[in-house]
Amino acid sequence: MTNEGITYSASSGWIDPPTDVMPALRGELTCDVAVVGGGYAGMAAALRLAERGADVVLLETGFCGSGAASRNAGQLTGAPAGDPSVLSTLYPRRFRNLLRLTEGAVHFAEELIGRLDTDCEYEPTGNIGAAVSTGQLRKARRNARILQKAGADAEFGDRHDLGLPEAFPGGVLERAGGLLNPGKFALGLREALLGSQARVFEQTAVRAVEPHGTGVVVTVPGGRIRADRVLLATNAYSRELAITPKRLATPLWVSMVETEPIKPGRLEATGWTSRSGIATQHNLMQSFRPTARGTIVFGVRRLQATRGAAGTREPDPAVVADLARGFHDRFPSLRDVKLQRAWGGWVALTSSWLPVAGQAAKNVFYAMACNGHGLAQAPYVGTMLADRLAGGALHDDLGAIWQERSRFVPSPVFNAPTLRAIWAVDRLSDRLGSKTGHSG
Ligand SMILES: Cc1cc2nc3c(=O)[nH]c(=O)nc-3n(C[C@H](O)[C@H](O)[C@H](O)COP(=O)(O)OP(=O)(O)OC[C@H]3O[C@@H](n4cnc5c(N)ncnc54)[C@H](O)[C@@H]3O)c2cc1C
Repeated sequence: MTNEGITYSASSGWIDPPTDVMPALRGELTCDVAVVGGGYAGMAAALRLAERGADVVLLETGFCGSGAASRNAGQLTGAPAGDPSVLSTLYPRRFRNLLRLTEGAVHFAEELIGRLDTDCEYEPTGNIGAAVSTGQLRKARRNARILQKAGADAEFGDRHDLGLPEAFPGGVLERAGGLLNPGKFALGLREALLGSQARVFEQTAVRAVEPHGTGVVVTVPGGRIRADRVLLATNAYSRELAITPKRLATPLWVSMVETEPIKPGRLEATGWTSRSGIATQHNLMQSFRPTARGTIVFGVRRLQATRGAAGTREPDPAVVADLARGFHDRFPSLRDVKLQRAWGGWVALTSSWLPVAGQAAKNVFYAMACNGHGLAQAPYVGTMLADRLAGGALHDDLGAIWQERSRFVPSPVFNAPTLRAIWAVDRLSDRLGSKTGHSG
């Protein structure tokens, strides 16, 4: 398979960078709260703090939204990351609260979209954990039962009930949420932030965060900030700051591919009448979603680890070819459709599969690592932490993930050999699935 004609991008495939990128911080200043990182979590937190009258400064390495915020698949999902049967076994008492957090996050994001009055092409289609084999169908049925029992708005259905393409015999529909253009959502949030009282410095990579006396000193290449408190919203880049609790999260690279626009009617002809986002039930899911520009964006399937920094990069052509194979297997009638673009981004994964928030040191707090499900969760968690810093009580939903002791264990899953083995197991199950009647 060749990847001819695909444009590889080191930035988002959804948007161009803004033309009004804010200047870097030079010199010294003081503030109530310094927010490090301008993704969804950091921007939403800074906006909330500014609305509550705090003197807030936000520092961002690139432009606000240049991280995972503008690069993701745009599936606004109320599902937790990780398999529901595993999560409900690991966290029997917390599971219901976790689902309340993840569905609450979707409602918060929908309300935020309305408040920002930004056209991020939101379609409230829900998302489907779709099966591609009889084994995955059983898993979807079981997960639907577990989710329903814990109070989630989820339902099992066959492909006709759910309006799924032919290659997916059924799945579990999570009604909350849908699809949007995450780049436009990020830029909408950025615009609101720039219009607020918050002081925003882009092109400013924080080098160190150190508690000092009654406050915290934040060091950047051209200056320094003395803040009463600091909120770290650095997500997959967090381990580059020494103040981050050890092993909090592991950065993994996720690749996305977009087709050329598809002629009207051809999508429906595959059976995909619901336009819901799709995530397969593999160990490493494959995601597929239609876009407002008439294309399909698909990705994940194969994650890549790094020993070094979560730096700027383009997708690996071998991974793009593998994603293309997955697309053609699931959408055989669209084999003639050209692939036009590929990009990727860093997700932050925790060994618990839960997002985390807590206190890293005196006056230094963090909210991050939504395990590839942060489109809804990151702004919600960031906002709840901002409310807490502004003097509010600990919100129950924030309490569901609050780390009383910021000690984290490493995950054996997040290294290159294990990730490759998981991918191989998924492909083997595809081959077995195709032999038993479902396309592989
Ligand atoms: C390819 C891909 C597909 C995904 N698909 C989905 C999806 O469909 N649905 C979903 O819910 N989630 C998805 N996600 C995950 C989602 O995008 C993230 O969970 C979410 O963006 C996290 O938001 P955040 O604010 O925590 O982090 P980010 O958006 O990554 O923001 C962190 C910011 O901090 C900045 N920063 C870091 N360190 C420093 C520093 N030292 N100084 C200054 N700035 C710093 C970075 O530059 C970055 O802008 C996907 C992610 C990727 C990469």
